[in-house]
Amino acid sequence: MAWFKKTRQPIKADRASRMPEGLWVKCPGCSRVLYKKDLGGTLNVCPRCAHHFRIPATERLGTLLDHGRWTEHFAGLASTDPLQFVDTKPYRDRLAAARQATGLEDAVIIATGRLDGTDVVMAAMEYGFIGGSMGIVVGEKLTRAAELALEQRHPFIVVSCSGGARMMEGALSLMQMAKVSAALARLDRAGVPFISILTDPTTGGVTASFAMLGDLNIAEPRALIGFAGPRVIEQTIRQKLPEGFQRSEFLLERGMLDLIVDRREMKSTLALALRFMGAGAARRPAGNPAAPPPLPH
Ligand SMILES: [Zn+2]
Repeated sequence: MAWFKKTRQPIKADRASRMPEGLWVKCPGCSRVLYKKDLGGTLNVCPRCAHHFRIPATERLGTLLDHGRWTEHFAGLASTDPLQFVDTKPYRDRLAAARQATGLEDAVIIATGRLDGTDVVMAAMEYGFIGGSMGIVVGEKLTRAAELALEQRHPFIVVSCSGGARMMEGALSLMQMAKVSAALARLDRAGVPFISILTDPTTGGVTASFAMLGDLNIAEPRALIGFAGPRVIEQTIRQKLPEGFQRSEFLLERGMLDLIVDRREMKSTLALALRFMGAGAARRPAGNPAAPPPLPH
């Protein structure tokens, strides 16, 4: 009877937290049906349970930078498929589909703009582009962004949303971890602030490199953050993992993160952090040596 049965495609796990098309959306956190337009007013956070829906990189930049305005940099860099990689379909085709779907050349946008009046260099990763994975282009753009921040002495902020290194570029994508980290080390030596924001999900080679190297590592609530997936870890260590393992709250409790901040308060927290780090000092009136207020917990 196998031929008579209707075969169903398994529902992908990540589909639940992505914004579906249409007027209404069911919240994966509280199962409430929400009017999509209403979510726009809450930065795509459920007003009832504070579930954070995943948002595109452009929207992220729009919510964090003043007047939703920024200048994009290094937009023309595109992958050349150096390994001529083919899995279930050619990597070249995957790239073309991702470009079509997102309108971007790769999985990160580098922008300069102002955050509460302070000049910043900001990178936002796009999950819709092959799972926000880091290949040569993402690594190169992040490195150049760090160098731009160093040259201009403006704080560098990276919003991660990524499944990790891009397997279709093999070892070349793994090398980006070291390259970006080295650029961040130069930024650190020069005393230029670097803030990492980890959103759902931030995993693999991204967590294992720049996403955890911030002077401040800030996560959104309930974000999946980790290196290997829970099943791989369970099979390796042959132990059951605790509840909530690899979620922001679990990591904060164990000292892996500095703060968990609701998306609706992210901009004001960043502005406060930049002032605290001295980056926003230029905005303080001259002759006012008063220390900025402490960061919230
Ligand atoms: Zn909800």
